[in-house]
Amino acid sequence: MGIFVQRFRYINTFLSLFKTMDNKTRTNIAELGEFGLIDRLTQNIIIRNKSTIKGVGDDAALLDYKKKQIVLSTDLLTEGIHFNLMYVPLKHLGYKAVAVNLSDIYAMNAIPKQITVSIALSSKFSVEAVEELYSGILLACEKYNIDLVGGDTTSSLTGLTISVTAVGEVEKGETVMRSGAKPSDLLCVSGDLGGAYMELQLLERENEVFKVNQKMQPQLEGYDYILERQLKPEPRADVVAAFKKLGIKPTSMIDISDGLSSEIMHLCKNSGVGCNLFEEKIPMDSQTKKMAEELTINPLVAALNGGEDYELLFTLSLDDYEKIKNDPDFTIIGHMTDAKEGINLVTTGGSAIPLEAQGWNHGKLQKS
Ligand code: ADP
Ligand code: MG
Repeated sequence: MGIFVQRFRYINTFLSLFKTMDNKTRTNIAELGEFGLIDRLTQNIIIRNKSTIKGVGDDAALLDYKKKQIVLSTDLLTEGIHFNLMYVPLKHLGYKAVAVNLSDIYAMNAIPKQITVSIALSSKFSVEAVEELYSGILLACEKYNIDLVGGDTTSSLTGLTISVTAVGEVEKGETVMRSGAKPSDLLCVSGDLGGAYMELQLLERENEVFKVNQKMQPQLEGYDYILERQLKPEPRADVVAAFKKLGIKPTSMIDISDGLSSEIMHLCKNSGVGCNLFEEKIPMDSQTKKMAEELTINPLVAALNGGEDYELLFTLSLDDYEKIKNDPDFTIIGHMTDAKEGINLVTTGGSAIPLEAQGWNHGKLQKS
């Protein structure tokens, strides 16, 4: 079996959308050369947005945003640090690299429109493998109505590095930053937390088992939801759309890439406020809890200090409470306070303990 066909058959089959390549042909990148490869990768690009005047094919992309403001964000992912190709299919990796970047744009209450993608490749990657990566990138572009307008392609001595830059638009005055939260604002989160982290623990464990015995296939059945949370996260475009529909503008917002704790700290620090977070309110899926039990990890740790949930954490003025209180996709998990009251986790037992910012190094499973 070729190196880029997933070791874990179950992952290959869990989503029909993500049928991975059969790996029968292998074309060395050297056969095509850099320009040939770029042509292959960009030949099927569809331009969807009016703001894209010129995409791939010149020295730079040309965009026209008229009077709108532009948000710009970039991410860099390195093999062995941010992802492990032993269990991450290349198509998923491409999709996720785009998704996590779009999440940063949505977290500004903006709409992403264009991306550029830069890759560094070692010779272990075939043309077909890179095409697989791009099929995931283009799928995310299709789903979120994004134009791929450029990038850069180069070689590397070891492994794969991928960098995505996203451009988005927002009306003047509609941007939501980390800095606008006021004491007494509600602290809210979309979706549920901890799933991506719990699944990563399982994949890492199963990968260790596999290294010892290659006949072992991982036991992932029954955990489709959290497997998807880890391998195919979806940025919350729908949440930003819901804000518009409900006539809500959060006072501050951030996307949850490093765990709830550290994101709350960012909001508090940037806004100059404190916070009470209620343990019993933190939304978690039943699969997350079940997996936590199986791996004897406290699910609260996964939600607070895990990572890669890509949900939106935001604060709302109390006046907006009525507008969201019945929305099942939003959970009020706490409220902001004066800075002098500190940043606290109020436990189910009722005691307040200072929240600790345990950032998380993606893929490395270590606290930083
Ligand atoms: P330059 O020499 O100016 O860097 P390149 O030959 O690298 O130009 O790129 C040619 C065109 O292809 C440019 O429009 C560039 O943005 C685009 N491009 C290069 N690499 C990629 C990639 N990996 N994905 C998408 N577009 C790319
Ligand atoms: Mg270039």
